[in-house]
Amino acid sequence: MNATKKTNRVAAGIDLGTTFSVVAYCDGQSAPRVLANSVGKQATPSVVCFKKGEILVGQEAKDEQEFGNPNVASFFKRHMGDSTFAFSDGSKSYSATELSAFLLKKLKEDAEAQLGEKITDAIITVPAYFNHFQREATLAAARDAGLNPLRAINEPTAAALAFGIRASESTAGKKYLVYDLGGGTFDVSIIAIDAEEIRVLATEGDHLLGGKDWDDRILRYVADRFRDETGLDLFADVETLNEALVRAERAKTELSARVETKITVASQGQKVSAPITRALFEELSSDLFERTSDLCTAALRSCSPPLTWNDLEGIILVGGSTRMPAVAEFMEAKSGKPVLTGVNVDEAVALGAALQASADLAAEDPQYELESAERRRRLKMSESHLVRMQESYLWRMPQLADVCSHTLGMIAENDDRSKYVNSAILKKNSPIPSQDTKRHKLNVGVAENPELEVYLLQGEHERPLDNVVLGKYVFSGFETGGAKEIQVDVTYSYDRNGVVDVAAAQVGSARSLTRRVEPVPDDMSWTDGAPKDLTTKFTGNLSIVFVVDVSTSMFGRAINKARASFLSFIEKFDLKTTKIGVVRFSDKSQIVQKPTNSMKLLKRAASKIRIAPFRLGIANAAVPLDDALRCFPEPRVKVDRSSLVKYSSKKLRDLAFARSSSDDRRFIVVLTDGRWLWRDRAVKQAKLCAAQGIDIVAIGFGAADKRFLEEISTLDEGALFTDLSRLEESFSTIAQTIKGIE
Ligand code: ADP
Ligand code: MG
Repeated sequence: MNATKKTNRVAAGIDLGTTFSVVAYCDGQSAPRVLANSVGKQATPSVVCFKKGEILVGQEAKDEQEFGNPNVASFFKRHMGDSTFAFSDGSKSYSATELSAFLLKKLKEDAEAQLGEKITDAIITVPAYFNHFQREATLAAARDAGLNPLRAINEPTAAALAFGIRASESTAGKKYLVYDLGGGTFDVSIIAIDAEEIRVLATEGDHLLGGKDWDDRILRYVADRFRDETGLDLFADVETLNEALVRAERAKTELSARVETKITVASQGQKVSAPITRALFEELSSDLFERTSDLCTAALRSCSPPLTWNDLEGIILVGGSTRMPAVAEFMEAKSGKPVLTGVNVDEAVALGAALQASADLAAEDPQYELESAERRRRLKMSESHLVRMQESYLWRMPQLADVCSHTLGMIAENDDRSKYVNSAILKKNSPIPSQDTKRHKLNVGVAENPELEVYLLQGEHERPLDNVVLGKYVFSGFETGGAKEIQVDVTYSYDRNGVVDVAAAQVGSARSLTRRVEPVPDDMSWTDGAPKDLTTKFTGNLSIVFVVDVSTSMFGRAINKARASFLSFIEKFDLKTTKIGVVRFSDKSQIVQKPTNSMKLLKRAASKIRIAPFRLGIANAAVPLDDALRCFPEPRVKVDRSSLVKYSSKKLRDLAFARSSSDDRRFIVVLTDGRWLWRDRAVKQAKLCAAQGIDIVAIGFGAADKRFLEEISTLDEGALFTDLSRLEESFSTIAQTIKGIE
């Protein structure tokens, strides 16, 4: 082995914060430490200022902000990965990635001056909430700043490492809650310790909640005092506002050390001083504390199995805002568990990242370990550092299991093909890196070169558009062999940086598919409509009469659901070959629309699906099947009346079909929520329909009578008892049944 060979790689851990950023370093042998910046501070404000062609970063930029310079960018971390965000200095505009790159470059340079060496690699931390784009943007900023990003890890996870929580036999089974309240983000993680590794069981958070919101409470309070005393609006000009904000933050920080302070604001020639006590401040912000604890309980609940406060060993506080004494008091009271101490809350994230960075580098490069001893000598690490290292960080790094912070899925049809849903592939909180495959049916119909469009969704909601659509991938090159439907395995993989890749393979085919990445279309509203069915081959003409109950029991949600279901029902048919009509009934019945091909008329008919006008009565005394029968244009077939008594509706139907040679099909779809008064007459009417070759399907809910519905329906699965929430699905099933009949 050549021990003199240099790797020339030095890795730092960087907490790229919303308000403050911190750089730490660990040589792999001794405890990690924070590298101070050029003005001797541990934390560098995440602020960038553009001043006469010069770019100021950190404290200098923050000073400019205090002086009211408008060309100051801060809180840009909140816009990471957002392509619509741009900060303009008047002549040029910058993305959040570019602003972060300026910041990272400065952090790198300052740290290098401290370390006396070039920093080549880094682990950057990101809030657990960050999505694919935000993480990518962060990694891109690191590259722009001349750093090789080893990976991005979640801030709370890094913090846990810094607290020296290690995997071991004696600590196995213990669980902690990491409460990270920074300047602009709040993250909660539940971590569990095994003999082998630390696992993150769940994360929750709100990336719009942070110390800034506490500043705002003080700012609002002082603005009110200012208005009371001067009648003027403190928010009138930006410059005073910026200055007042800085003062509000200072007052907040002071209240962490003392129980009372004073804040002075000046604007438009007026000056107001307002005393503020810690108790008042805590009162002004009590709802913010409650919001954090709600997120903590949500995180506990989303573990599987769900946890309670009692399952925890303790609470780890991270982030500058947890210096507010109320945080620890509040959390101890809420949880009944101790708050861990011993690491500076604003350094923990960077320290943990540094530990991980050195472990990663060591794993990649054996040479690194050799050099570390030398580097340690050079840095003259103190004895106490070495002792601390043996106590807490040790040689064996706890293996780090991180999790996906969001479910990743794709847009797919639901089981009964009534709507599009988010089909989860990688579940929220699966450990990363991870990969999962889900089999999907691809309805290829008669298409010659079918394509599979995979819309990558991020989020947990069932409705596709309630999630973030991250990307569109189109796969082609399937072997259909004449099949109407083929199966495709869709695989998502999530790498250590939280970056996602999408792949697909046809089941039972060795041919590899072609993948195309397309921009996500602006208009995705089709996902709220009903999927188009390509498999139906029915070529004859179809007539359907929809018979709908508009009695008063349908009032409210039921009638609205009925209308909506009818509208999505008609969408499923090709109106070139299908005519649809509507009959509504209560105590009387009425033909609203004879079967028609016109979508316009059908929409108008749908609008008449509302609670019965007075003349139709309020109950269910009508026998609407008679009107339904009248809707069909064909002359009535002569029916042997005695057979109506002898046979069931189903039997009569079969007899009629045996006699008929017509390719055309006729259906009556009944929807009711109540018990009909003249059931016997209705059954007789139903039989009359059946004997003429008209199929009846019936959907009931609420007080409807299942037996009765079975009696009138002519198909085996023709009576459906459902509930309102599944009404649309039931309609979809009926549509499938109607279309599936050969
Ligand atoms: P981030 O990671 O979001 O950049 P930090 O963890 O550095 O944030 O925390 C910054 C926040 O902590 C700011 O809102 C700051 O005002 C607040 N903070 C710092 N010190 C104190 C203190 N002593 N008391 C209360 N809040 C503090
Ligand atoms: Mg932070």
